Amino acid sequence: MVDYNNVMVSWPDDKKFGLILTHDVDRVRKTYQYMTHFFRTRRFYHIKSFFSNKNPYWTFKQIMDIENNLNVKSTFFFLNERKKINFFRLKTYELSLGRYRIKDPAVTKIIKELNNNGWEIGLHGSFDSYCDINLLRKEKNELEKIVGKPVIGIRQHYLNLSIPTTWFYQQKVGFKYDASFGMTRELGFRDQIKNIFMPDKINMYVIPTVIMDAVLFSTSRTYKDAWDKVITIIKEVKQNGGVLCIVWHTERFNNNEFPEQGQFYIDLINYCRQEGAWIGPCYEAIKYIKR
Ligand SMILES: [Zn+2]
Repeated sequence: MVDYNNVMVSWPDDKKFGLILTHDVDRVRKTYQYMTHFFRTRRFYHIKSFFSNKNPYWTFKQIMDIENNLNVKSTFFFLNERKKINFFRLKTYELSLGRYRIKDPAVTKIIKELNNNGWEIGLHGSFDSYCDINLLRKEKNELEKIVGKPVIGIRQHYLNLSIPTTWFYQQKVGFKYDASFGMTRELGFRDQIKNIFMPDKINMYVIPTVIMDAVLFSTSRTYKDAWDKVITIIKEVKQNGGVLCIVWHTERFNNNEFPEQGQFYIDLINYCRQEGAWIGPCYEAIKYIKR
């Protein structure tokens, strides 16, 4: 359990609860997944897509269109991973293969475009950064050079957290909120916390992450099954006047790659709106905290 202090969030216009929209940008190109996803799903599509010159994981335009149509904005957490492959450790393959350079001109360009059009840019702290204050500072600075303004929010890759050390480091380098508090194998509320909080003795907000796309779809057999789980969670958040922070990875918006997962995101937003939710990115949500 964490030591923390409750904060009061008062949503505008009598909204009942908050829906916070986020995207982790883990990868922007499909690489080894041409093979791994083919073997996992047996769908020939993955082999075929290798020979196409389209990049199935570059979905920024789709996401912008979807959110413009819904009249909402979200937070994009960009990763700056440099971990080298250690041939004897399988985990490093996943981290290293298919990573992107944040200074890649196409990536820089899309970060600026999102920022200029009202989306929030946050840092997706690299795998080891949760326990390395210098790495956190470096990644924050590099991203700020691209964005041209302070980056106030972070989510650690794989939700890596060493509590409370990581929060202490994040606050020290100037973050105003962290969105890494959540579970990587389960949906729902870590330690039953349903609202934004402040860790004890740390002057920074924590936005709990409740629903992650990968967890939702790997533990649900059908759309209906996934939907039922999500409705149960929304009800609980609404009853508590809490916040529901969700993560949809950018590549999930390609319908050929991840059928129905982009539509699920749209349906979820529409449902929460009907239920009286305030909907927006992290940085706006924390503006409604009463001090
Ligand atoms: Zn990640």
